[in-house]
Amino acid sequence: MKPIDLRSDTVTRPTPGMRAAMGVADVGDDVYGEDPTVNRLEAVVADMLGKEAAIYVATGTQSNLIGLMSHCERGDEYIVGQQAHTYKYEGGGAAVLGSIQPQPIDNEPDGSLSLDRVAAAVKPDDAHFARTRLLALENTIGGKVLPMAYVAQAAALARSHGLGVHLDGARLFNAVVKLQRPVREVVQDFDSVSVCLSKGLGAPVGSVLAGSKTLVARARRWRKVLGGGMRQAGVMAAAGLYALKHHIDRLAEDHDNARFLAERLAAIPGVQVDPALVQTNMVFMTVPMTAGPQLKAWLAERGMQISLGPVIRMVTHLDVTRDDMAAFADAVAAFFQAHPAAVSRTAAHA
Ligand SMILES: *Cc1c(COP(=O)(O)O)cnc(C)c1O
Repeated sequence: MKPIDLRSDTVTRPTPGMRAAMGVADVGDDVYGEDPTVNRLEAVVADMLGKEAAIYVATGTQSNLIGLMSHCERGDEYIVGQQAHTYKYEGGGAAVLGSIQPQPIDNEPDGSLSLDRVAAAVKPDDAHFARTRLLALENTIGGKVLPMAYVAQAAALARSHGLGVHLDGARLFNAVVKLQRPVREVVQDFDSVSVCLSKGLGAPVGSVLAGSKTLVARARRWRKVLGGGMRQAGVMAAAGLYALKHHIDRLAEDHDNARFLAERLAAIPGVQVDPALVQTNMVFMTVPMTAGPQLKAWLAERGMQISLGPVIRMVTHLDVTRDDMAAFADAVAAFFQAHPAAVSRTAAHA
């Protein structure tokens, strides 16, 4: 039985080609700046993103935190979405470790932040207030792509208030593939950009933070302070370089598989999914509340994994195929056939 794990795009295993690249990587002590593979990865990412410099870090959480700390000092504030990973899913690190106050704003249904609300959240220069220093956006956010025109407007607004602009681009390349624009253009309005190599790109570890030379020099200091200075990290950076070369264009397959899965699921009585909302590699489905745990167990018996929540998020990736999506949808359909009461609960709901 082939496992089909749709909990996240972080669950992928390195491919044989990636492992081979890791096996032959040239390494050195990266804290001394002497790991040639890490240096190459940093140079490649800086060039791809059109930024002066970049720094390899352990995780996306560390990358965002270092980015925020490189923009903001103690008592500064950053404006961020309520649903943003940096705000909601990183343990409050900016506040806990950076003494940076978040100013969260509700995300609009398309993942953006209303520019009026952003403008209203910028504090005047007055001792009563934290100093607003930064606007942080996320792309993709909840599988949705921020429109380029919106990003340009948001960045212009931020600059008009003297704010820096950070992008949590954990899934930047999913946005790039969907937009069919050069990545440089997609990130041109940002002062700093964090990219995960360990999500859809399929590397086992690692993120990269890119920006100006000054910003990356500050980031290098914070990385050490936060315990993120690694030694022969080239073994892992080689996986990142391999991923950037071989795994970007294929993200389109993940997006197609997500759309296909959504269409199959939408046809199943008991399941609510809107295929039209699928933009990249995420599908969101709701099932009657009481059916969730039973469905999860049913799928687990068949080697299929999902994360439960009020809305079930399923993520496609390198390790699942079109056939897997069909098999998964068939298993969900079989569940509702075997549990007609769950379906009628949906009907009663609607
Ligand atoms: C996964 C993720 C991160 C953090 O990455 P980790 O490597 O898990 O720390 C940051 N932002 C977004 C949007 C993510 O999806």
